Amino acid sequence: MTVTDADPGKRETETNGAGDGSARPSRDEAEAAVRTLLHWIGEDPDREGLLDTPKRVVKAYEELFAGYGSDPEEILTRTFSETEGYDEMVILRDIRFESHCEHHMLPVIGRGHVAYLPDRRVVGISKLARVIEAYAKRLQIQERMTAQIANAIQNVLEPKGVAVVLRAAHQCMTCRGVHKPGVTMTTSHMIGAFRSNPATRQEFLSMVCDSGRGGYSEA
Ligand SMILES: [Zn+2]
Repeated sequence: MTVTDADPGKRETETNGAGDGSARPSRDEAEAAVRTLLHWIGEDPDREGLLDTPKRVVKAYEELFAGYGSDPEEILTRTFSETEGYDEMVILRDIRFESHCEHHMLPVIGRGHVAYLPDRRVVGISKLARVIEAYAKRLQIQERMTAQIANAIQNVLEPKGVAVVLRAAHQCMTCRGVHKPGVTMTTSHMIGAFRSNPATRQEFLSMVCDSGRGGYSEA
């Protein structure tokens, strides 16, 4: 078994942000939309402190939603097949991610744990972190993001199994609506051996749990 604690400082960021572009509004139109929102909340978009805000918001969005410009399966295609027969579980844990919920466009911040049981191919560990990032930097619901990460790894590496656990706090719950700070949601998606073999699943869960009492590590 290989367990690696992710170092978020070393993660690369996809910055191309370009979608297919066909029906996409212009940057000026996007900035005008931010101006409209500022006006709508009761602000004066022409006061000095807000003059450059639409520009800054649009620039921030390019970074926060850069995932639309990256192809997660493409990230995984550089694999290594010279594994000297290594066929034990590979686990990458505590990968911090920042996403946004598609219902409110508010931050969803958490940590992910990813494991797979290699068959013939392994992939560089930074690639697993980048796959999480590519899906996180989009509007998401946590359940779908969990399944997307697992399916991308399964499709490209064709391992004997994949497991993904995400735990995250949703700011749409902590800052508005029901106002429940400190609540986190945990989702998991298991494929292959992690689904069918209780021992494999348990081995994975024991590696990503903080204690023996079943709690996943803190987001
Ligand atoms: Zn929400």
